[in-house]
Amino acid sequence: MKQEQIKRKKTRIVKIGDKYIGGDNPILVQSMTNTKTSDTKATIDQIKRVEEAGCEIIRVSTPDMESVKALEKIKNKISIPLVADIHFEWKLAVESINYGADKIRINPGNIDSQEGIEKIVETSKKNDVSIRVGINSGSLPKDIIKKYDDKVTPEGMAEAALRSIKILEDLDFWDIVVSVKSTDVLATIKCHEILSKKGDWPIHLGITESGRAMSGIIKSSIGIGDLLLKGIGDTIRVSLTGDPVEEVKAGWEILKSTKIRERGLSIISCPTCARTSIPVEDICKYLEDVADKFGEDPKKFAVMGCIVNGLGEAKQADLALVGNENDEALFFKDGEYVQTIKPEKIRSFIDELVK
Ligand code: SF4
Repeated sequence: MKQEQIKRKKTRIVKIGDKYIGGDNPILVQSMTNTKTSDTKATIDQIKRVEEAGCEIIRVSTPDMESVKALEKIKNKISIPLVADIHFEWKLAVESINYGADKIRINPGNIDSQEGIEKIVETSKKNDVSIRVGINSGSLPKDIIKKYDDKVTPEGMAEAALRSIKILEDLDFWDIVVSVKSTDVLATIKCHEILSKKGDWPIHLGITESGRAMSGIIKSSIGIGDLLLKGIGDTIRVSLTGDPVEEVKAGWEILKSTKIRERGLSIISCPTCARTSIPVEDICKYLEDVADKFGEDPKKFAVMGCIVNGLGEAKQADLALVGNENDEALFFKDGEYVQTIKPEKIRSFIDELVK
């Protein structure tokens, strides 16, 4: 399926800081910090690292006033929109906006105070801040679970989201983003298919609590990838237990694989076999380490163990290294052979290329 064949569902445009999502705006890659937000140095350092990796919106938890107060300092040091994540306590949501959050993520269904919801909406309107209604399969209202035979179902998750959205829309608030996350990939897909037919809110996609890199990336690629190919989704996050930089890289790989957006270096490499005559894996690892130095413009770099498929891939790549019968690497640029490199010189040759 090509990009032009993906018919993207038209959603309403919502502003988050200096970025817009929904409509024809690009699908943005998000992540979330895992530092203590009150530790401003650690949080700013981590946000800088995810920014470099291509993160376009960052969310931080604000479970207490200390974290809320840290938002102002954090915001002044970063250049992407800052989202505050709040549960239960409406005052923390209001104060997060006062301290500079560009968007807040709440579940109106778990804020047990109409006055509190009204205060959040009033403060959001006054400060031009959007609200993400975030529903999680682990915390659905009890009456909804009961309605669906005591089970957490896609229909129940969608109903919980619609109930929360209605709370905000009844207060004439429309800058809403919706996310419904589940650990179940198929339930997530079905739930978003239901939701996307019920309204035009921009949708944030993710599979929650999906594990460490291996299982998390597989589950997220299937869930997020399937929905993106169906034209559903305006922002994405690959949730991983680990370094958020890996979440951002994985998010970009999903966008690149579905040909939706391109960014930076894409490495194409063969799986290696008995014909392999250059250290393909080592070269790929080194390229990954220095990938950011190749810049943000999309580039394909092919690393192929021999000429069997190597020459064909080299023709289609911007840059390529292909093993030859003398255990050397043939270097190609824009599909044309340029020079032959001795194996011990490959790293320094890559360093020169980066320069
Ligand atoms: S490109 Fe060559 S070395 Fe790599 S897997 Fe194919 S045949 Fe083997």
